[in-house]
Amino acid sequence: MKKTYKIDVDCANCANKMEDAAKKTAGVKDATVNFMALKMIVEFEEGAEPKKVMQDVLKNCKKVEDDCEIFL
Ligand SMILES: [Zn+2]
Repeated sequence: MKKTYKIDVDCANCANKMEDAAKKTAGVKDATVNFMALKMIVEFEEGAEPKKVMQDVLKNCKKVEDDCEIFL
């Protein structure tokens, strides 16, 4: 299952950091951040609950980049 989320981040470098943090989150199979479009596409592992997983994705992204936001 894939879902797209609107994000806010200040530069492409931080967008890459967010992508890495999202990829390392349990329940995430793959994640892609498009800085130009300010979007994050997340592919979830089977059986994962997107709502719960995205709370962790947001937490992990905030660890690497204080100023980022994911609109859940
Ligand atoms: Zn930045």
